[in-house]
Amino acid sequence: MAEISGLLRETRAIHIWHGRVRDLLPSSDLAVLADDELGRIRRAGRVRSAHYAGVHAAVRRVLGDHYLAVPPSAVRFGRHACPRCTDPAHGRPRIEHPATTLDFNLSRSGPYWLLAVTAGAKVGVDIERRTSAVGVADVALTAYEHARIRGLEVPEQRQELFYRAWTRKEAVLKACGVGIFAELENLEASPADPGPVTMEYSESGLAGRWHVQDLALTPGLVGALAQDAESVRPVVTRQAAFRLAGDNNS
Ligand SMILES: [Zn+2]
Repeated sequence: MAEISGLLRETRAIHIWHGRVRDLLPSSDLAVLADDELGRIRRAGRVRSAHYAGVHAAVRRVLGDHYLAVPPSAVRFGRHACPRCTDPAHGRPRIEHPATTLDFNLSRSGPYWLLAVTAGAKVGVDIERRTSAVGVADVALTAYEHARIRGLEVPEQRQELFYRAWTRKEAVLKACGVGIFAELENLEASPADPGPVTMEYSESGLAGRWHVQDLALTPGLVGALAQDAESVRPVVTRQAAFRLAGDNNS
């Protein structure tokens, strides 16, 4: 069922798609990938290759089938210029072909993926597994976040707030297009607030206010979505219409 991006622009919605891909590499996924994607797969290990291929094939199918009305293999990705240095090699990912006003943002954690799609606005998403081997010290927290998280007695609560802070920050950075090397310790994520929250990114030239909400995903997964706080759009969760053969480990 093709859905043209013009319709998405009319409804001003943000569509959220998420799923889990399997641990085996299917030839049907390889068939829709581009040369640079196949190159990455050849350099990675078996399971990591399967996850990478599965996620990128799923995203191509969602964008091609539901928004762009082209075969998944015909979607060509490129990048916006970096907002800091204008280098086109590491800006936000964009759809280069076919011509579209669609904006999308993808996050992946192992086999799990999270995709936001909208038209004519910037979005950012982040997904993490709570089991990810990362400590509180690995992510720059504000003094307030540190105090709130360290002050909690129950380890599970500390972990919950930590992942909330982390995914919210990542979602904002991905919406901005700055990725790593951002000033995280000045980006307040208010993890004790169940949200949505407004986060202010203050780097000069990139300053902006972002509306950030946590996303209800499969248990054990944490996800966040960032969008422009000046013009907040409704969020609609979509289901992948295609069933993937051999998709048995949910
Ligand atoms: Zn740059």
